[in-house]
Amino acid sequence: MSVLIFIDQAEGHIKKASLEAMSYGAKVAAQLGTTAEGIVLGSVTEDLAALGKYGVKKIHHVNNPALDHFDAQIFTHAIAEGVKATGADVVIFSNNVDGKAIAPRLSAQLKAGLVSGAVALPDTSNGFVVKKNVFSGKAFANIAITTPVKIIALNPNSYKVETAEGSAEVAALNVNVEAPKVKVTAVNKVTGEIPLSEAEIVVSGGRGLKGPENWGFITDLAHVLGAATACSRPVADAHWRPHHEHVGQTGLAIAPNLYIAVGISGAIQHLAGVNRSKVIVVINKDPEAPFFKAADYGIVGDAFEVMPKIIEAAKKVKG
Ligand code: FAD
Repeated sequence: MSVLIFIDQAEGHIKKASLEAMSYGAKVAAQLGTTAEGIVLGSVTEDLAALGKYGVKKIHHVNNPALDHFDAQIFTHAIAEGVKATGADVVIFSNNVDGKAIAPRLSAQLKAGLVSGAVALPDTSNGFVVKKNVFSGKAFANIAITTPVKIIALNPNSYKVETAEGSAEVAALNVNVEAPKVKVTAVNKVTGEIPLSEAEIVVSGGRGLKGPENWGFITDLAHVLGAATACSRPVADAHWRPHHEHVGQTGLAIAPNLYIAVGISGAIQHLAGVNRSKVIVVINKDPEAPFFKAADYGIVGDAFEVMPKIIEAAKKVKG
């Protein structure tokens, strides 16, 4: 048995979700009595050997310019080649946007069983059983993977990043990489914005904020707290906010440590994307709003009166 972890990068920087995947993969490898290895695609600016502190012993680096921009098909093909070259039996992804695009394709290509949305280490005492979220996080299922190659896509923020002394051996891996069919001519960089899927704190707004001109309440609090911003679907549909901020059943599913919902009713489709948050704070003027049932802390009040006070208080606390 050997374990291969896909180490995801953007603009040359390793994503936080991959640090979790490495820590998780190292534990899976220890359970199986083997070592964890990683695969990195494209150019990176970080010291790959230093990733050894997350438990990976060897990093296979496919340093090909065709992999500098994400392309699900080309990435899948390169990783499939990497799995064959390294003889990996267990392949681990983060269940982030890239992982969700690659893992099912890899599963089909390698005829390998996949559990996406894993939330715990596999039970290897009798087979290989992985616990995952089902029904939009309302229940768990234990899925046995019986194929020779097994793929796990770990939900972001469901496994703690662990570090220890150590560095990884870095080896170039040459695999056949297809030429991209789409040429990337420019990349829009959103500087200073914290990626929603990786944020520890998320401040989110709904239709209760009345219009995009009032979004300063959300962005100001997010700025003070070092948080990412999100929104409900109608807000994105109305173009008050970009669609990549929409969370829920049809949007992004997130699991921050703190989710602050302002003027959001808490419809089941919204909760499906945020109910794995560790602490939920709801601000709504309607005491009957369904979101209060899912909240750890609730403030019944008008967001237009409450938010300036919260922002002031947060500024004082943050100094
Ligand atoms: P509203 O339901 O209009 O709620 C606004 C809330 O703001 C109310 O609770 C109100 O009391 C409160 N409010 C009003 N004024 C103030 C004020 N001044 N101060 C404080 N509070 C105030 N929705 C998603 O979000 N994500 C999804 O992924 C998603 N997927 C869907 C998929 C399907 C198939 C369907 C049918 C629906 C989906 N929806 C999704 C829509 C969902 O059902 C709700 O309509 C939506 O979440 C409601 O958004 P909202 O809470 O912002 O707006």
